[in-house]
Amino acid sequence: MTVEHRTLSGSCLCGSVTYEVADTFEYAMNCHCSQCRRATGSAFKPLAGTKASRLTLTSGDVELLRYGNVEEGHDARCRACGSLLYSLVRDGNYVHVAMGTLVDEPSIRPNMHIFVGSKAPWFHITDGLPQFDGLPDHG
Ligand SMILES: [Zn+2]
Ligand SMILES: [Zn+2]
Repeated sequence: MTVEHRTLSGSCLCGSVTYEVADTFEYAMNCHCSQCRRATGSAFKPLAGTKASRLTLTSGDVELLRYGNVEEGHDARCRACGSLLYSLVRDGNYVHVAMGTLVDEPSIRPNMHIFVGSKAPWFHITDGLPQFDGLPDHG
């Protein structure tokens, strides 16, 4: 039996860089670490993780600014508008899509808060999702 997966599209603010990603994210979470806060300028970053091979740039390859190591891990931004689109992580095997750049609605929802130990003191988490000081325990 063939399982068909939807393909989601995503875009930076100015529209120069667009991507497609399969709607097969393995996890999604809100990260409150100081790096994610600074990278996004937000209280936290909602991210969705999937194998790097599931994401394809559909336009704007030349506009892509890779902050960090090109092969092993970086934040991918649009050079023109600065949007953070995704991060290459886990030795280059996974991408963490910045969920705010998704144009289409993914099936997955962030289901936990991580690095709450370094949360911005001015932000209060008001939902009931589990909170972890750092990464969740892998059981
Ligand atoms: Zn852009
Ligand atoms: Zn983070």
